Amino acid sequence: MAKTFDVGIGSLVSDGVRAPAAQQASGREAAAVALLPLPLRGAPGAAPPGDGSVPAGKSFFLETFGCQMNDHDSEKVAGVLQGRGYHAVESPALADLVLYNTCSIREKAAQKVFARLGDWKTLADGKIIGVLGCLAQQEGEEIFERAPWVSLVCGSASYRKLPDLIAQLESGGRRVTGLDLDTDQTFETEITRRDNMLRAYITIIEGCDYACSYCVVPHTRGPERSRASDAVLSEARRLADAGYTEIQLLGQTVNSYRDPSPRQWKFVDLLRGVAAVPGIRRVRFTTSHPNDFHRSIVEAIDEVPELCDHVHLPVQSGSTRVLRDMLRTYTREEYLEKIVWIRAARRPISITSDVIVGFPGETEADFAETLSLLDAAQYDAIFSFKYSPRPNTSAMHMPDAIPEEEKSRRLAVLNEHQRAIQIAANQRRIGQCYEVLVDGRHPQRTQWGGRTTCNRLINFTSPRGNLLGEYVQVKITRAGPNSFAGEHVT
Ligand code: SF4
Repeated sequence: MAKTFDVGIGSLVSDGVRAPAAQQASGREAAAVALLPLPLRGAPGAAPPGDGSVPAGKSFFLETFGCQMNDHDSEKVAGVLQGRGYHAVESPALADLVLYNTCSIREKAAQKVFARLGDWKTLADGKIIGVLGCLAQQEGEEIFERAPWVSLVCGSASYRKLPDLIAQLESGGRRVTGLDLDTDQTFETEITRRDNMLRAYITIIEGCDYACSYCVVPHTRGPERSRASDAVLSEARRLADAGYTEIQLLGQTVNSYRDPSPRQWKFVDLLRGVAAVPGIRRVRFTTSHPNDFHRSIVEAIDEVPELCDHVHLPVQSGSTRVLRDMLRTYTREEYLEKIVWIRAARRPISITSDVIVGFPGETEADFAETLSLLDAAQYDAIFSFKYSPRPNTSAMHMPDAIPEEEKSRRLAVLNEHQRAIQIAANQRRIGQCYEVLVDGRHPQRTQWGGRTTCNRLINFTSPRGNLLGEYVQVKITRAGPNSFAGEHVT
């Protein structure tokens, strides 16, 4: 096995979906150093002034847990609040309104939010405390029972009501809720605060019509709703006009997109449409459901240079029997056929995935099939998870639960297996050149960092000055399992 080392930023090479470090494919690099944060774009008042004083008027603090969908929802919520005259502060202690945009995909995420709420038990006086997102939808008014100092509980399917709910609180309302799921509307805002100056997110589809037996999302985010293609294209044009060159299209099942307008675009039409917006150089999309992943998507990536060389295609298990119990709607063979399409593309497309170990009833033989699927797929990275039973899911009460220690053992075996695959593949990339969009800098290491179109993370040295936001050519000189080191080719 090749020698491995930390070559800089230690996050996973992936679709960018944030996963808890303990669940990442390789925890060994998780302690690596982050780059300097990027300045905010279009975020007036996002931080208190340098002298520590706070501008006059109402202030808010918003903390986000979970996935990129939540990150982007928070950008929109912040836009709604700024439109109502609020300014953001960096400390909850300074805020009039404290909001938590929550995740309930695993037990630990939910516990963390309740711990945050507990902090306000004796300190909430005069502040409005609110819970948004998946935990809000899942727990509903129970949150008021557990934390009576909370005033706002709103699930993501009801965010269009947020301005009204906030107005009710401002006029003295004590407790307000937005917990409807029966909506066919998406969350549209006049203003979206953009927290990343280089990559802009556009949600194209919300909710999910699948019913995977382990997943709370259909319960917490409601049924699938796609945005009209015109609205998506207009947002992409506005972003390009504001100077963005990279756009990431978001959806829980992004490729299930169905244009509700008379144009009736499919997902692949929208991909091509966004890629054709003048000024846009990179278009990413996440997360794809294998069932809706058609060959036409690979053909589009092959033909359209602006579409990035990366597909995140969650498999969850390599065993058809387990996939059936998970209600994933595809078999191992059907999934691997899609991998063959992607590998046959003219452009080298990186593939990442999500894997769950320890699903109820998963035998040693099933687990061995997952390991062999890793060999067959040769993923660039995976997000790996121990199965976590969640309320309002059909797997919650399935028999043959796997003991926690056994789940941990399988997770460790899985990660070691994948790590070896990544080390071998990444070593072969030493000496190759990639175009990198520079998105960070590490002053101590005098390194720059950025991502390739295939979403690989490269830290590199350069004789040049400020490179933030530039596209540069970088030659790889060293490779770790999750990131690379290189030199700017000038
Ligand atoms: S496709 Fe399955 S895992 Fe993905 S959000 Fe929908 S129900 Fe959850």
